[in-house]
Amino acid sequence: MADTRAPLRVLKFGGTSVEDAGAFQRVVEIVRAHGGARCVVVVSAMSGVTDALLTCVSDGSLTGLEPHLERHRQVARLVSGAAGEGLIAELERARPAIAGLLERAGREHGARAGLRDEVVSYGERLSSSLLAAVLAAAGLPARHVDARRCIVTDDTHGRAAPDRPESERCTRAELVPLLARGAIPVLGGYIAASRSGATTTLGRGGSDYTAALVGAALGADEIQIWTDVPGVMTADPRVVPHARAIPNLSYAEASELAYFGAKVLHPKTIEPAVGRRLPVRIVSSRAPDEPGTLVSAEAELWPGRVKAIAHKTGITMLQITAARMLGAYGFLRALFQVFERHRMPVDVVTTSEVSVSLTVEDGAELAAVVEELSGLGDVQVERRRAILCVVGEGLRTTPGIAARVFETIPDINVSLISQGASRVNLTFVVDEDQVCEVVVRLHAALLEGTEPAPAPVARSSSATPESGMARLDPVELTRRLIDIPSISGEEEGVARFLASTLAGRGYRVELFEAAPRRPGLLVTTDAPPRVVFSTHLDTVPPHIPSSEDETHVYGRGACDAKGIIAAQLAAAERLRAEGGTELGLLFVVDEECGSIGARAANRLAAARACRWLIAGEPTENRLAVGSKGSLRVRLHAAGTGGHSAYPERGRSAIHVLLDVLGDLRAVAWPRDDFFGETTCNIGVLAGGAGANVIAPDARADVQIRLVTDQAPVRELVERAVAERARIEYLSCTPPMRLAAVPGFEPCVVGFTTDVPHLSSWGTPLLFGPGSIHDAHTPHERIGKAELARGVELYVRLAQRLLAEPAVARP
Ligand code: ADP
Ligand code: ASP
Ligand code: MG
Repeated sequence: MADTRAPLRVLKFGGTSVEDAGAFQRVVEIVRAHGGARCVVVVSAMSGVTDALLTCVSDGSLTGLEPHLERHRQVARLVSGAAGEGLIAELERARPAIAGLLERAGREHGARAGLRDEVVSYGERLSSSLLAAVLAAAGLPARHVDARRCIVTDDTHGRAAPDRPESERCTRAELVPLLARGAIPVLGGYIAASRSGATTTLGRGGSDYTAALVGAALGADEIQIWTDVPGVMTADPRVVPHARAIPNLSYAEASELAYFGAKVLHPKTIEPAVGRRLPVRIVSSRAPDEPGTLVSAEAELWPGRVKAIAHKTGITMLQITAARMLGAYGFLRALFQVFERHRMPVDVVTTSEVSVSLTVEDGAELAAVVEELSGLGDVQVERRRAILCVVGEGLRTTPGIAARVFETIPDINVSLISQGASRVNLTFVVDEDQVCEVVVRLHAALLEGTEPAPAPVARSSSATPESGMARLDPVELTRRLIDIPSISGEEEGVARFLASTLAGRGYRVELFEAAPRRPGLLVTTDAPPRVVFSTHLDTVPPHIPSSEDETHVYGRGACDAKGIIAAQLAAAERLRAEGGTELGLLFVVDEECGSIGARAANRLAAARACRWLIAGEPTENRLAVGSKGSLRVRLHAAGTGGHSAYPERGRSAIHVLLDVLGDLRAVAWPRDDFFGETTCNIGVLAGGAGANVIAPDARADVQIRLVTDQAPVRELVERAVAERARIEYLSCTPPMRLAAVPGFEPCVVGFTTDVPHLSSWGTPLLFGPGSIHDAHTPHERIGKAELARGVELYVRLAQRLLAEPAVARP
């Protein structure tokens, strides 16, 4: 029996990935290397075969198919013995069977659509039989399954719609027993059967959709789309040859790209994946070790940036102006009913008071649709148009992208501009013969030279640390993290970037919202975490982009705490590669303000398993055995306002407050042998109405670093203030003693951390590269050597804790 808990992967191979015998052999190696312990294989027809079969139907002749049948025979020769002979026999049977169908299609015009699907289905039926046999001959436990027993659809031949619940039931009934026996089911994509058993197809390129349907039905852990390009690219590589693969996409981004012409993914592929948050990876069967594109719920945000441009040609634009007697609602309803009756999808729509403009794909049904629409009003038809779609999650939050787009193409006639409901795309229509030029120009303006630093972490589709994944470079990652602004309150972008990066490296990632759009991140391996590295995602303002010289990385968060995130991740990777599993990473929001992120993290169930929390703050790679506490106080002074020319007639709140603060500065605060001095900082002074006004009010914000309990300090404050101002206590964190570990240089730090709010995460330790004296400054930085040393020491500390659970807490 197979291990039913092992991750389940669905591997889909497109036509070019099975174009000839050599390609079939590459697929064998890919399934071996990337299929993992449990997998299902979905395969397209060999390249060119679907087109050839469709031509057979329109020509009513088999002639064009012969060279393709010969390619199939060459693949069958990879399999020796009875199995190979069986394949040849199946190929021989296909020819007369297809000929018979063509003959019927010539006679029975009413049944033509159904017969066309029947003929076309041979593409995937043959490729899947061949692939199952080739895999089995290579020693893999492959079993052929007829996809028509799994995917159940309506009877719209050529673009049938799956009955999801029924397909799910049938897929499970067919595949679960095979998987339980340790077999690898191999089925054709694209082909399905109607409820009455007639063969149907899911629309061109539909094998991707089959893979997603199968993945969703089985609750798979990942779908891998193996194709001839190294991922979803920044533009169609046939138009922009230097387009680049995009490391990751959100579901919304991927859907928009696929829908508006990125042929690499069938537009419906994402739909089944979204509901189950199933990651979809697009990878090249010609370069299987390239990271490809990961489509997931945790997409990396490129703030303000466009991720890709898609385009679709063969578009017709229709403009329908309402006849007078129809009211607006009646007109719109009647209009869309026409498209519904003809099952014709509408891509882009814009409306004005009396007219509607929309686009549809050219097709045979268009004439009939136009004729019906004429009954509703005046119809103008413009053919040979193209849709262009600019996509990026960053568009949601960045105004001005549309202006940049249209500034780039001032000389191009643009119509029908629309920003999709998901707001991740900007779509418009241009003339078909200008579309390539527009794509090239927009790509140059929006995607060349301005892209973020390349992803510092590569992904492998098997996502295990030992499978040759690129080593994580902490310097590069630090820079990448600095470049995603995350001032307290705006941590979402960096959280999502980390989530997708880590999911891509095979970690389990949980995002937990401390407040709306403020997610923290819990990252684990397969085992419950016993040692957890933790730090914060937020920084103080203002954002400062990254830079570096030979010795240091600079920018906001360099040492507080983005360099630390990078060091902790690099350490986790090293530990995992050595077989460490009981490890976790916890990144929270809001450490620089009110610690709501840490408070939310303290409620997570995973905390219970954790024995040691290695909190990261810049301690210059020393182990903080103590951190001072903090008492935040606001002092409010009240006065009597008046004209400043007559000070005797009023009482200045500012003057009162200055006296109070003078006395506060003279206080002899307590000292502690372990923690050192109590210190007091007057951080904010505010008040007054103008230089010629006696100030009616004033306030001061004071932060006192505690080395004792708060009680004696409060008493000293109250005595110094002597009721001349109102005292508001804002927050208090007591000083903390933290665990010491032999072999690590100890220190006491003056700052507070999130540690007191993470009390359910076991015994805390506090350690990190970088200096607090650089934190919060305009020249914030971290030393490169220090960062590398930090990684070493994090590894050593975690190894120590994992091996010796009894390190004493003082
Ligand atoms: P398969 O046979 O593997 O299903 P497809 O031909 O359906 O492959 O899809 C891959 C092709 O999609 C690529 O060869 C490329 O020419 C085309 N394509 C169009 N737009 C894009 C894009 N944005 N990214 C990647 N490929 C694209
Ligand atoms: N073979 C089918 C086609 O070419 C389906 C696919 O390749 O995905 O449309
Ligand atoms: Mg395809």
